[in-house]
Amino acid sequence: ARRSATRPGDFRSPDTVAPALPPAATFGELDLPDAVQRTLADRGVSEPFPIQAATLPNSLAGRDVLGRGRTGSGKTLAFGLALLVRTAGQRADSRRPLALILVPTRELAQQVTDELAPYAQSVKVRLATVVGGLSMGRQTAALREGAEVVVATPGRLTDLVERRACRLDRVDITVLDEADQMADMGFMPQVTALLDQVRPDGQRMLFSATLDRNIDHLVQNYLHDPVVHSVDPAAG
Ligand code: ADP
Ligand code: MG
Repeated sequence: ARRSATRPGDFRSPDTVAPALPPAATFGELDLPDAVQRTLADRGVSEPFPIQAATLPNSLAGRDVLGRGRTGSGKTLAFGLALLVRTAGQRADSRRPLALILVPTRELAQQVTDELAPYAQSVKVRLATVVGGLSMGRQTAALREGAEVVVATPGRLTDLVERRACRLDRVDITVLDEADQMADMGFMPQVTALLDQVRPDGQRMLFSATLDRNIDHLVQNYLHDPVVHSVDPAAG
């Protein structure tokens, strides 16, 4: 029923949108699995950054999220913790991941993978990184072995889907990271074609440094009543 409450595009109107849950002052309030709490502590992450405090209560509850934050504001854990916690305990079938993180570049894919790997390991979720410029063998092997989460650039993932090395029909959580950069780089046709293959009732989170016109149509067509966190860029 989450999807049927409003007409497409209505989410901007405050009276049609379910209110956002209040921000979490601490990670402890979020009821994260002990293994995740321990990993946060091990890595010296003690207090949530603002974008994490604002979005995690909502994303952990399954809400769509639209988040804007400058570089370094902590977007990776903002989407990553919710995605991993909500995926934990499920097993993917061969070549049919359960969650997808799309990023514009190979470097960003590696950064996101490196940042999330310890948390993923702590809850026994398997990550596969799927990017261009590297041989396909390891990537297709990770998919075949049943990675639950795929961190990918749009081009290589499209290629692997076309080769039937991956199917997106069980993807229940989709993240678009640095969405404005993906638009600037001309990836929107591939991104929307991939989004059209994931579960239509799944959760989507879109993060970006800017929320301007080039991502409007993603927001309008692929997010459903998102919780919006958008801080003044100057204030971070
Ligand atoms: P963004 O994607 O918004 O540019 P990142 O997610 O890459 O930012 O985070 C920037 C840095 O801040 C990373 O090194 C990350 O480990 C660190 N970080 C993220 N959240 C916290 C936090 N709550 N406390 C301390 N460090 C954090
Ligand atoms: Mg980032």
